[in-house]
Amino acid sequence: MRPFTYVRAESLRDALDNARTADTRFLAGGTELLNWARIGIESPRRLVDIGRLPDLHEITSYSDGLRIGALALLNDVAQDPRVEASYPVLSQAILKSASAQLRNLATIGGNPVQRTRCPYFRSPGPVACNKRVPKSGCAALHGANERLAIFGWTEDCVAVQPSDPAVALACLDAEITTEHVDGGRRIPAPEFHTLPGEDPSAHNVLRPGELITGIEIGAPVPKSAYVKVRERQSYEFALVSAAAAVEIRDGLISRARLALGSVAMRPWRLYDAEQALVGLRPGSPAVREAVTSGFSASRPLSSNAYKIPLARNTALRALDLALALEA
Ligand code: SF4
Repeated sequence: MRPFTYVRAESLRDALDNARTADTRFLAGGTELLNWARIGIESPRRLVDIGRLPDLHEITSYSDGLRIGALALLNDVAQDPRVEASYPVLSQAILKSASAQLRNLATIGGNPVQRTRCPYFRSPGPVACNKRVPKSGCAALHGANERLAIFGWTEDCVAVQPSDPAVALACLDAEITTEHVDGGRRIPAPEFHTLPGEDPSAHNVLRPGELITGIEIGAPVPKSAYVKVRERQSYEFALVSAAAAVEIRDGLISRARLALGSVAMRPWRLYDAEQALVGLRPGSPAVREAVTSGFSASRPLSSNAYKIPLARNTALRALDLALALEA
């Protein structure tokens, strides 16, 4: 690990000013960044510790929604009564995202920034990986790709984004707020992560020195649920996952939102399926057809065709669970 300097930021302004130089990274829970440094994915020259910044730990209600400070711990968010009651999909996604120990250290702002679990990207040795070394190729395209993408991939990268909370936030149309020395912005959660067609080496739209300060979620969606399919029940990344949020009026679906996880380099919204679901009666055979219509753009790799029916059934299961909840 390359030596680095450590700076503890005393204020948001202090943090942003200290991140003006290249090779600087923000340190919060450290559960991902220290992995990157250990494997050699990142070799920052300076770490700016933002862990004690005031105001970024709070969860605050506002007129028709919730603001979650970026430094709120995953377990604190998942167990907040407002999140449990109004956004169960987010609470469930967080509780399935990591071990209890990690959830007591990792933050809601840091989790969506985690990088792909593609085995070549995380390999300790040199390997063809456009994300790790731009223009070096993609060993996974014809290699071990059974856990990788079925949507949105290119021959330059077929990886998937592993964050569970990010899938719930995309489903809820949350907004990620940021600050930067040149000004902050609000980023829609479904657009926070980047697909490889834009830049295969990128993971998300954050600029160097840009800091996530919080997450804002709109009106409550009590009929929402998260399903994660994995090879073991604890401390495992998803083969596929699905988040569903629905609203019912006069016995019919009036609004539906569906997002899949671990199928692309961003949480994958099934927009066609969402439209097709409007006006349907919960439990009718047409619901399955509507969800299936969201998979017209799916494309399997050499070893992961199983993920298409698995993802479809996971989305249907999440939808069923959401519909069964009380509004
Ligand atoms: Fe690298 Fe992406 Fe290919 Fe994995 S899928 S080897 S992360 S370029």
